[in-house]
Amino acid sequence: MDTPPNWPGPQAGEIFLEPPELEGYLGLWLKVDRVLRQEKTKYQELTVIEAGPLGRLLLLDGSIQVSQFDEPAYHEMLVHVPLLTHPQPKEVLIVGGGDGGSLREVLKHPSVEKAVVCEIDGQVIEASREFLPGLASSFDDPRAEVHLGDGVKYVAASKGEFDVILVDSSDPEGPAQALFSLGFYEDLRQALRPGGIVVSQSESFYLYSPLIEKLFGFLPDIFDLALYYMAMVPTYLSGVIGFSFCSLGPDPLKPPDPGRVAALGQLDYYTPALHQAAFQLPARWLRRLPKSVALRQGLTE
Ligand code: SAM
Repeated sequence: MDTPPNWPGPQAGEIFLEPPELEGYLGLWLKVDRVLRQEKTKYQELTVIEAGPLGRLLLLDGSIQVSQFDEPAYHEMLVHVPLLTHPQPKEVLIVGGGDGGSLREVLKHPSVEKAVVCEIDGQVIEASREFLPGLASSFDDPRAEVHLGDGVKYVAASKGEFDVILVDSSDPEGPAQALFSLGFYEDLRQALRPGGIVVSQSESFYLYSPLIEKLFGFLPDIFDLALYYMAMVPTYLSGVIGFSFCSLGPDPLKPPDPGRVAALGQLDYYTPALHQAAFQLPARWLRRLPKSVALRQGLTE
């Protein structure tokens, strides 16, 4: 397709720089083979590109959301860690997640009866259906329900409804900003059934340390258990992404049931050993978490 004039996004044949972080000093470049879609939705700039061995990538406001190269690492760790920690997840809510990758992984769990995706931007779902069918064909499963709207409002209106809630959000700017607030997490707790679990995309400690410290300033007060874990995702700037694990009881540091893991079929990234290892954090990050949290995640001093 032709690139609209003055469009700030990537163009075919170019090396595209993802918006840099760390005061503009650290960026990520990609060589672009083809631009498959570029459009301004009501909420954000949406781009789909193709880049050699990375396959197709979906970008929102210039930031990589998924690449076919490494998306299983993000989706499997966001989904299987909480779903295998919960004794029997039946009703699951995904806030954001319009590419369908998290939904695909949730639906691998035989206990799941209903999975609701609350995505603010219907054009993300449309673009993923067209260009990323390996993720978005999950929307055709009869257990899947799509609600187009703001996840903040949807969660505030849900009381005691979900066993697991996954916040599969973009970076804390634009429509996703409210998904990192105290009020949203208070509402998430109310939306859980007894013994429920929330896991949220919580960025890389290398890049977003103040944000993660802010989150862990209130998460341990709202939930019975709040921990941070991570996964290696090379197409995210800094190569890692983190998640907040918040629960009303179930403990992710206990080994998952081998039979339930086997029922998921062959996976790309998740293993039971990685599930537990993902909670072991580097010393410099442990020092930035509340001591009660850090002591469970490897702090020895
Ligand atoms: N894996 C991704 C990452 O961390 O980069 C997240 C991917 S997913 C495409 C993020 C989705 O969250 C986007 O489609 C965006 O439209 C959606 N989103 C952002 N704010 C939202 C809100 N307030 N309510 C519901 N969905 C929201």
